[in-house]
Amino acid sequence: MKTLSTETILQIKSKNQAARRVLLALIFSSLGFGGCAPAFRASPISPTPQTIVETQTVITRPATVAPTMVTPESAEQFDGKHAYAEYLTAQMNFGARPAGSIALRATGDYIIAELKKNNWQVETQEFEYRGAPIRNVTGKYGAGENKPLVILGAHYDTRPRADQDKQNPDAPVPGANDGASGAAVLLELARTLDKTKLKNEVWLAFFDAEDVGGLSACDLRVVKQQKPTALCDTNEWSWSVGAQRVAENLQTKPEAVIVVDMIGDADQNIYYERNSDAQLQETLWQIADKLGYRQWFIPEFKWSMSDDHTPFLQKGIRAVDLIDFDYLSWHTTQDTADKVSAASLERVGRVLERWVEGE
Ligand SMILES: [Zn+2]
Repeated sequence: MKTLSTETILQIKSKNQAARRVLLALIFSSLGFGGCAPAFRASPISPTPQTIVETQTVITRPATVAPTMVTPESAEQFDGKHAYAEYLTAQMNFGARPAGSIALRATGDYIIAELKKNNWQVETQEFEYRGAPIRNVTGKYGAGENKPLVILGAHYDTRPRADQDKQNPDAPVPGANDGASGAAVLLELARTLDKTKLKNEVWLAFFDAEDVGGLSACDLRVVKQQKPTALCDTNEWSWSVGAQRVAENLQTKPEAVIVVDMIGDADQNIYYERNSDAQLQETLWQIADKLGYRQWFIPEFKWSMSDDHTPFLQKGIRAVDLIDFDYLSWHTTQDTADKVSAASLERVGRVLERWVEGE
């Protein structure tokens, strides 16, 4: 994903100016704004445009508590340690996982197997983009039951080149936080969601090819598994190629799309994201607050992101990007598993669990 310039934010927000947007986007990309822009910190003029109304939760307990069975922590509750030990580790063991690589194909196969094991109906969407094979993987529950659709999504590819790394900019990004963390959260949800509580059709969408944005097929060749060819296509890739394809091929309009990206940083700071649907964002932060996560889900605006939620927003679909962009190892070779914590995965997982299962 990338941060946006103010102009680009305005483009995205004006829904009725699609043609102008395309034109401006072309201009910007030709000016060099289309790539991985340096981190853009929103102006301090309006850091908190929204007033947060806090609802106080008063927990009342009976004066005398009758002895009850202490139920061990339910196996159905999202477990950050399991998400980390099982799903994050498995992805990291495949090595760097850029779009079109053998490692990403293996990662996708692994995701498919895990979804099936946990009784999700798996669908894949395969296509070619600039000569590279791309595969979105979606686990579906409740399809065809005429219930409103919600999508929880994360990209599972990793950036082919660590272009923010001063020492080693040609090496691939390991993608522990940027890639594996979001997919690990979705896989743990696949295992632990209580399907009897789901009132919606739920998709767990693993998007391919989010993170080649601003790079080209020539950069994919830095990954060892990729066979070098004599000539490579130097055209820059778009961001969120996989999510774009999902958004374009929806048969029904989802009620909501929540994207999780880079949410595993051990030093977790998740801020409101400016392009996200404000109401849905607020709902998620209220859940986080009730779960005691206010320290990590900070109810203030900070970043403006172009990410996998963007193609959905552009279609007028309510979408939120849950992202912690305060991550020093972003797009470097330092994006390794030791930067991610089980506790961070768990906080995000439990917010989503609570949201999708309802109370
Ligand atoms: Zn990235």
